[in-house]
Amino acid sequence: MSIGPVSSTKITCKRCGTCCKKGGPTLHTKDASLVRHQRLSVASLVTFRRGELAYHPTELRLIELHTDMIKIKGKNHSFECLFYEEAEGMCSIYEDRPLECRTLECWNPGPLMDMFLKDLLVRKDIFSKSLYEVIDEYDTKFQPSRLLELLKQGDKLGVARLEELDQEYRESLITSGIALEGEMDALLGRPLTLLRRAFESIL
Ligand code: SF4
Repeated sequence: MSIGPVSSTKITCKRCGTCCKKGGPTLHTKDASLVRHQRLSVASLVTFRRGELAYHPTELRLIELHTDMIKIKGKNHSFECLFYEEAEGMCSIYEDRPLECRTLECWNPGPLMDMFLKDLLVRKDIFSKSLYEVIDEYDTKFQPSRLLELLKQGDKLGVARLEELDQEYRESLITSGIALEGEMDALLGRPLTLLRRAFESIL
């Protein structure tokens, strides 16, 4: 996450882009208006769901999420924030950057770390009631913990079947006009195929 110059401090941001290349920010309730007023499109977001694993910045270990964690996507599934412009070394949504980006000072990461898992924006805050019913159904059918369990058991057929059902479920929402393809990562989280790869990289 890049940060702007801080004129009143001795240390200032060098705009090196390192923060923005390490990953897009997680959204908090204070960022709700950015989504509501379409400063941040739903298509630019991805949800890490309950049951997925996340790295705890102060405990220095992976933890299981007990809530949604909505983030700005990375470019082409990399960590680099979608809005980081490498050539100019700048944030393309600087005036509307989320709370975490406005909080982070790379020479003083404490305040950002204190925000971890606090006052997070969740899908209920950005999707309609009818879409939230879809989310509820999907989360019941396709729990990350179930995928993880199958992987640990080495059940390749079970994993392949679950991924296939996931794909079918997503396609049915798009063809029936219930959801937009570009918004699927925010609505349902990453497809299980991608989630499996993420799990495999840490197992
Ligand atoms: S939103 Fe802007 S400041 Fe925040 S990580 Fe992305 S490019 Fe960096």
